[in-house]
Amino acid sequence: MEILQLKNLIKLYKLAGGGTFEALKGINASFEAGELVAIVGESGSGKSTLMNLIGGLDSDFSGEILYRGKNLRDYNAKELSDYHKKSIGFIFQNFNLIPHLNLVENVALAMTLSNVDKETREKRAKELLAQVGLTDHLYKKPDQISGGQKQRVAIARALINDPDVIIADEPTGALDAETTDTVLDLIKDIARSGKLVLMVTHSDRVAAHCTRVIRIDNGQLISDENFGGFKVTEKAADFKEPKIKNMSLYNAIRMAFLNMRAKLGRNALVAFGTSIGIMAVILMLSLGRGVTNYIQSTMNSYTNPNVTEVHKQSMMPAANSTSTSQAEISQMQQNNMAALTGSSSESNFTQSDLKKLQKIKHVDSLETGYTTLSLGTNSVEYGSKSATIMTLQTMSANIIKSSIVSGKAPGADEILLDKGTADILSKNIVGKNVTLKLMIDGKQVKKTFKVSGTYEQQGSNFSTVIMRYQDLAALYQANGQTLSPNVVYLYTKNKDNTEKIKEQVKKLGFSGSMQETMTEMFTQMMDIISYVLAAIAAVSLVVSAIMILVVLNISVVERTREIGVLKALGARRKDIRRIFVSEAFLIGLSSGLLGVGMTAVLQVLINNFTSAKFDVNVVSMTFNYALAGILISVIISMIAGLLPANRASKLDPVEALRKE
Ligand code: ADP
Repeated sequence: MEILQLKNLIKLYKLAGGGTFEALKGINASFEAGELVAIVGESGSGKSTLMNLIGGLDSDFSGEILYRGKNLRDYNAKELSDYHKKSIGFIFQNFNLIPHLNLVENVALAMTLSNVDKETREKRAKELLAQVGLTDHLYKKPDQISGGQKQRVAIARALINDPDVIIADEPTGALDAETTDTVLDLIKDIARSGKLVLMVTHSDRVAAHCTRVIRIDNGQLISDENFGGFKVTEKAADFKEPKIKNMSLYNAIRMAFLNMRAKLGRNALVAFGTSIGIMAVILMLSLGRGVTNYIQSTMNSYTNPNVTEVHKQSMMPAANSTSTSQAEISQMQQNNMAALTGSSSESNFTQSDLKKLQKIKHVDSLETGYTTLSLGTNSVEYGSKSATIMTLQTMSANIIKSSIVSGKAPGADEILLDKGTADILSKNIVGKNVTLKLMIDGKQVKKTFKVSGTYEQQGSNFSTVIMRYQDLAALYQANGQTLSPNVVYLYTKNKDNTEKIKEQVKKLGFSGSMQETMTEMFTQMMDIISYVLAAIAAVSLVVSAIMILVVLNISVVERTREIGVLKALGARRKDIRRIFVSEAFLIGLSSGLLGVGMTAVLQVLINNFTSAKFDVNVVSMTFNYALAGILISVIISMIAGLLPANRASKLDPVEALRKE
């Protein structure tokens, strides 16, 4: 039965300068199973053109090429891909084996592209390699075997899916006489097993082995001698046709991996280059976070976690302040000054303020207090020694026990001094009586207090006196003044609620402690700085992307022939694109992992150093940063890989295979 018919087959090549060249001028022929056909003719006569058309590598022709009755030109992309995978097997003059795959993988390639499972395809590949006498070389790479052996591998590869038609383009052209005979015997066996073999050759000796000789000259069939095909004697060993599917993503990634392994040094360098950028980005973010954490924990460690300090108005421009006008700023500065010195009634809490604060959810008790800042007007005296006081503050739950370094919290008519001030007065001041001089409403007031203890508050070097609210109120009253609270401490039993209370306080229009406001500002500044630094570091990723693009482009050029082979074996555009995008993905993934790994190592080193020197861990990488780093790396690489992948997928198989 006829497998293949050519009817008035015409091929016109469009020429670059306009016009066309007629390479085939109406070929008519038909072919049957069991024929071994030699196609002979001068160079340039149109033999390759004919083979490419029959092989389905070029669908641009007029006339008909009927494979089992259906014209190749009417095939859609899937049918064409299936035709390559199942119906046609190619054998090339220069073998076209893929150098980084071993023989089994080379032979199994068409099945890999058809997503046949590994066990089946390897079993089949090994059978075929045994058939061509290469059992001892299964896992060698192509460059470890001789030319004749390479061609036998190529024959095995062409047979993997048991095609009806084998196209061999000068299969013995690169072989010596002895190996030519072995290869010819194999090819004869193929025809004998009931396949149609079309073999281009220059050699009369080779043509003499064939059952039919077709001569082509100048695009025309000039003679067709048919000596009668082989009687199909040996039926091909039971071959259960595997289900032809599209190449799986897994296989694409696997192929990409094998490609990358073949060029390990180059790919490793690119991945390393990219990973530096990724590392820089993650490191900047982690550093920002580490420093912020440190500042926050330092600030928090000096205050009672169960207590929220509330002021009537902000003592600092709010961290998210948008006021920019000069007038607003100077007004704010005045308010700040008034609030700091306690001289403004604006900063005093009214009864309704206190009620509002008391009502906040989770607030278990409310304590009022007073704090004032003075510059040089207040002082404590002990004997002949005198120390200036900057902050006068009332005792509250916010002063935690651990910060009292000696003595105890102040009782009636007692004061607590900060350690610095205490040391100026005397080394053993605790329990002694000192004179406190305060400026109240423009008048200087003197009163004797016993020093109950000293305390240390890191982060603040202000000389401070702390006394009970009642005592300060009494002092004011004795001088005809009423003391109103300008600070409120909200206490909650469960410190986990403190955050919520702080939020609520802000919502009601009050503000937190000065330290809190400063910490907030600082945190925001740190955030901005670390994001800016990360963004600068990210610029290097653009360089990485270009590097990946260039390397993959080179790879496409280097592997043009390989891409041609894959297409001849039935790889669709999509498959080729997938392989290259997968390579980009693998580069991205390895750079990302490497970047995260390097950051982790740096984190340990830097933190070891800073914790030894300053007792701080400044780098704090989170899982999210690591994940983001890897994702960014993968995405950038894949975007960079798209262009080369697309280029590879669009390569014309005929041109790709012709490339030297
Ligand atoms: P053969 O395989 O017999 O040596 P080819 O089939 O390669 O011959 O080429 C047949 C003719 O077609 C030659 O004259 C060649 O120059 C021309 N040809 C082949 N490919 C192209 C092409 N892409 N563009 C224009 N002319 C081509």
